[in-house]
Amino acid sequence: MRIPCPVCGLRSVSEFTYEGDATVLRPPLEADGDTWFATVYERRNPRGPHAELWHHTQGCRCFVEVERDTATHAILSARLVTPTGAGI
Ligand SMILES: [Zn+2]
Repeated sequence: MRIPCPVCGLRSVSEFTYEGDATVLRPPLEADGDTWFATVYERRNPRGPHAELWHHTQGCRCFVEVERDTATHAILSARLVTPTGAGI
């Protein structure tokens, strides 16, 4: 699988680290333990288009939000979520 990094271009997935579901919203720090447990450990496993967060660890070190079809691995879109050079 190849991921189109907005900074570096089309790169091998081996250069990236998967950082999780990009749709998960973090609760406030004062939220109870059950809420934090659900946020951290309970994961959906959707089939079809899904927003994921990837870190280009072996490249520009930026975070990229990728919309990927989990059934076909087709990349539908990719956008930068950190400013260029922020991770360097
Ligand atoms: Zn990159």
